[in-house]
Formats: sequence, structure tokens, C-alpha cells
Amino acid sequence: MNIDARYSRQELFSPIGPEGQARIRAARVLIAGCGGLGSNSANVLARAGVGFLRIVDRDLVELTNLERQLLFEESDARDGAPKAVAAARHLAAINSEVRVESVVADIGTDNIFDLLQGIDLVLDGFDNLQARYLLNDACTKHNVPWIYASCVSATVMAGLFVPGKTACFRCLHRDLPEPGAVRTCDMAGIIAPAALVAASIQASIALRFLTGKALPETSLIVADAWDLSLDRIVVSRDENCPCCALKQFDFLNMAGQQAITLCGRNAVQVRAVFERRPDFKALAGRLGAVGAVRVNDHLLRLDAPPYELTLFEDGRVIVKGTPDPKLARSLVARWVGV
Ligand SMILES: [Zn+2]
Repeated sequence: MNIDARYSRQELFSPIGPEGQARIRAARVLIAGCGGLGSNSANVLARAGVGFLRIVDRDLVELTNLERQLLFEESDARDGAPKAVAAARHLAAINSEVRVESVVADIGTDNIFDLLQGIDLVLDGFDNLQARYLLNDACTKHNVPWIYASCVSATVMAGLFVPGKTACFRCLHRDLPEPGAVRTCDMAGIIAPAALVAASIQASIALRFLTGKALPETSLIVADAWDLSLDRIVVSRDENCPCCALKQFDFLNMAGQQAITLCGRNAVQVRAVFERRPDFKALAGRLGAVGAVRVNDHLLRLDAPPYELTLFEDGRVIVKGTPDPKLARSLVARWVGV
């Protein structure tokens, strides 16, 4: 097999070689969340030549993201671009050989199986634990391998879970912790090198897996981008694991919450308030009396200080300016009429 000039350095790396590169090119990967983890992992995988990337994210690019999300630019934040859309645009400019599909949506019980269709591997780019437990259930049930990764402050964790072969996320952490029990980036902060170390480790695990060179056991990688330490811990399967042993998919059976506080962001997401895609233009006309309104192809944003409402075409509304779900729902009812 000839060496492809574009990927020549990667192919010269003997564990990959031209054969590994062909496997990478044939791979279909889902990036579940495109923030500090997902955007950087997607960047590495697109440059490595992964053939297809499906990028799913619910948020918009904000100025505070730019410090550690290397895929995005000031113009993305200024335009209020959805992260999935901005990522797809930048990745197409980085590597036109890669097919990128962007999905602006919140991953939940209602859409996770559709998003897993035709996917060989999922990269966890989530910013919350509940979504990880849901992904673990869905991937275990449908035999899709996934790579956990998280980074808060300077601490990084990552590991590959292959249904039927390795331990799963619930073997590692049986139950969802109480709200507030786990540190988040909004409370503890984060430094860019931690996000990049996490994304690099996640991408390394992905390249190993896609080329058939995954580590034989479940390994949890724990690193610190400030202390500059890295450890590898072997995780055993739990014979009583509710997910991979007993096949009780508790998180798939959980009904989605109608309104959730977005951790530490003084914002609430209200879900599924529309039956159909709202008519943003008509709505913009009505909301002109309430505050400044901006509309683009993907969303409507109402600036009514101290609140800001962003309506997405999939029926979500993000209310900024309050952490209170009740108040957020009432603002949506008052202004959007649902
Ligand atoms: Zn398990």
C-alpha cells in the first residue's frame, strides 16, 4: 500500500502504518458534545483523516470558550453560531476529505439511538454526568464502543468502554452523584492545557481502537495538566453492574426533565416546548416589543435584560439570567406563549 502524502508522518508511525490509515479513513465517529473536549478531539480526528464525523452539540459559541476550544474564533461568538455548525465549517476548511455532519440538538433519550446509527465509535464530549450515564446505557444496549473523557480544573480522566469486552462506566461509578457533589468547570475553573491533554488522550485512545490496537484491558487514564502527572489504572468489570451485567438501562428509562439548570451558568434549558419548528420571523415581530431580537437560520435570540432567551429550531429554549427553572419556564410562557 502506498503512503498518502497528507498522512505520511502518521503512516510512518509503525503501529498505524498504511493499513491503520485505511481503517481510520473508513471510520465513522460520533462527537457527543463539542465544547472543550469534543471540539479539540474533533480537530485532531479530522486532521488524522477519520472519514466521517457526526458532531452533536446544543450550545452556541461564546467568548469564554475561546481560551480552550481551539476550533472556534471570535466571529463564531459574535455571530452566535451553534457549536456544531461552526465546528463543521472549520473542519471542512481544515480537511476537505472528511465528511462532517452537524446536529444542533441536546442528546437525550428521544434521539440517542438515531444519533448512534452507523457509528463505529463515540467520543464523550459532555459537560455533565447524567448525559454520560445515558450514553453508557445506550452504547451498552446497542454494542457501540465509546471513550469517556472529562477535564475539570487541571485534572483529566479518560477511558475506553467496549460493550461485551471491557468494564462499563457504571462498573467504575455505580450511581449518579448528588447534585453539587462533583466539581464542575464553572466552580473550579479549567486551563486550556487540561482540555487539550484530555482531548489528546481521547484521540490517542480513538486511534488505537480504530486501528485495532486498543489496550487489552479497561484502563482509566488519570492525568494532571498542572502537576504534570499521568497514571493508568486497570478497571475490573463489576459482576453486579446494573448496566453491563444486569442490563437494567436505568438512564434510558428516565423521562427527560422539562427544565434543567445549566450548571453554574446562571441559565436554564427548557425542552420540548414546541410541537413543530417555530416560525422565527413571525415570533420576532411579536417579540420586538419586549426587547432586541436577532434571528438566523438556526435560532432566535431575545435580549430582554436581565434575561436573554435563545430559541432553537428543535424546540429548546435557553434562558440566561436565572438559575431558577420555574422562573425560566414562566418567562418562556410569558414571551413565547407556550
Ligand atoms: Zn458495567
